[in-house]
Amino acid sequence: MEINIQNVSKTYPNGKQALKNLSLNLRSPSLVGLLGPNGAGKSTLMKLLVAALLPTGGEILLDGQPLVKKERKLKADLGYLPQDFGLFDELSVTQFLDYMAALKGLRRPGEEIREVIRQVNLTEKAKAKIRTLSGGQRQRVGIAQALLGNPRLLIFDEPTVGLDPEERIHFRNLFSHMAQNRLVLLSTHIIEDVQSVCGQIVVIHHGRILFAGTPEQLIRSAEGHVGVFWEKDAAQERGLSITARVNTGQGIRCRAVGDLLPDYAGAEEPTLEDAYLYLISREAAQ
Ligand code: ADP
Repeated sequence: MEINIQNVSKTYPNGKQALKNLSLNLRSPSLVGLLGPNGAGKSTLMKLLVAALLPTGGEILLDGQPLVKKERKLKADLGYLPQDFGLFDELSVTQFLDYMAALKGLRRPGEEIREVIRQVNLTEKAKAKIRTLSGGQRQRVGIAQALLGNPRLLIFDEPTVGLDPEERIHFRNLFSHMAQNRLVLLSTHIIEDVQSVCGQIVVIHHGRILFAGTPEQLIRSAEGHVGVFWEKDAAQERGLSITARVNTGQGIRCRAVGDLLPDYAGAEEPTLEDAYLYLISREAAQ
């Protein structure tokens, strides 16, 4: 499966331009992390990819053909978890998934429902009413419905919201496993969600792509731009973004990213988080 996003723009009826002339190619198998601050345009892009919204400019091609013409094929191949996914509180987990399976046109879904419940670690809650579940468990039901029908394209909008750290690790591994023979696209503003599992990262900000490539390439782009220093040594620096302040007992140790590091800063190897913050801070400075 291949998706070509060609010069896509989206302006909402109120005049807000959420995406600006965005181009990107996605090809399975891969796990793509869409990163960006709140309001960057991630959800809008995902809604365009699932044909829940139409672009106001440009075009999206699915396997070489316009998405609008392939909508039926797309829906058959798609598992989607939107950001505000409504669940039916009075149904049990199994009843809800049975309902979603019917909407997807799955025949005899019993075994498959048990399997997706197992994949999201909810077997013990299979008969529980959704209204009795915790926020993280509800999110897992949302992920389970996306997995129904074994779709070739999985799109998850902020899938780890409400999950505790252990659950997030479980899902990272599950997404990574799924991506072995599928195209999995997940949006997040949490760097750890994409670190170590996503082969490709796309950073968007203010509706534009700031970076598309591997995590290693993103990290390399910040080499020479990360430094640490004691807060007491620091002068007023322009163009320096503090990414961490640690109270060590000997004073406050600062970590910062910037185009030009001051003399008193010792150079540090960038992490993915540093590189992401460097990219966003440069954009903000322009
Ligand atoms: P993200 O998912 O990265 O947080 P969104 O795609 O939700 O970003 O939003 C991008 C921008 O578009 C934001 O400024 C948001 O306020 C605006 N926006 C989103 N949905 C609508 C809408 N239905 N009508 C008008 N503006 C919208």
